[in-house]
Amino acid sequence: MCEAEESPSAGAMSRPPRVAMLGGTFDPVHLGHLRSAVELRMQLGLDRVHMIPAHVPPHRAAPGVSSAERLAMLRAGIGDTPGLYADDRELRRKGPSYSADTLQSLREEYGREARLSMVVGHDAFLKLADWHDPEALFAQAHVVVIARPDHTAPLPPALQELIAGREVQSPEALFETPQGRLMQLALPSRLAVSATAIRRWLGRGESVRYLLPEAVLSHIARGGLYRDA
Ligand code: ATP
Repeated sequence: MCEAEESPSAGAMSRPPRVAMLGGTFDPVHLGHLRSAVELRMQLGLDRVHMIPAHVPPHRAAPGVSSAERLAMLRAGIGDTPGLYADDRELRRKGPSYSADTLQSLREEYGREARLSMVVGHDAFLKLADWHDPEALFAQAHVVVIARPDHTAPLPPALQELIAGREVQSPEALFETPQGRLMQLALPSRLAVSATAIRRWLGRGESVRYLLPEAVLSHIARGGLYRDA
């Protein structure tokens, strides 16, 4: 592990913690998720990125692979990557895995001054106004949106209303306050990798090499996962 990766960014000791949540089904976790988390940490000077598998995703059909298995793949994929953390808190809660509840629990853990961000890809962002209690998301956290090359649709009117007056253009402006703002980011790599495509290829017995960490590939092969996807 290299020292530059491990140490918090300059000034981190004297400022409130900067923490992000990257939730998802991670069915399975892939390099699009992991590389985004690493680049996000560098661009925003984050102390920690909590990657949180949804136990019972409220906005989509139940994944064919259990949450325990998806968490195990996430752990394997993260390995010892500095600053990334496979967080099982949604697996420890009953009922639908609402992000508003998860953010509340992170807020309780890190305190009122922490700069807490919820990170979503552009595809997930487009549906944000339909999530459970969307105002509560901004009451607990900033929302950071990552551009995805294969998702470029315009924002629906309800979303435009939800985010009105919240958007900022720089990390400094974002972190002036603990929560409530929105920032859209085009990260350097912008990998066009999706779990849907990976499941499809695996289901057909085709190669997904170099789209997932080796450790995740081994886990999938050992468990015979996604063969009937
Ligand atoms: P699926 O294809 O099954 O919808 P996915 O690849 O989009 O899966 P999710 O687990 O649904 O993965 O994604 C979790 C979060 O990560 C979402 O906010 C999603 O937009 C984002 N994300 C997924 N893939 C990428 C990628 N390649 N680059 C940036 N963000 C991504």
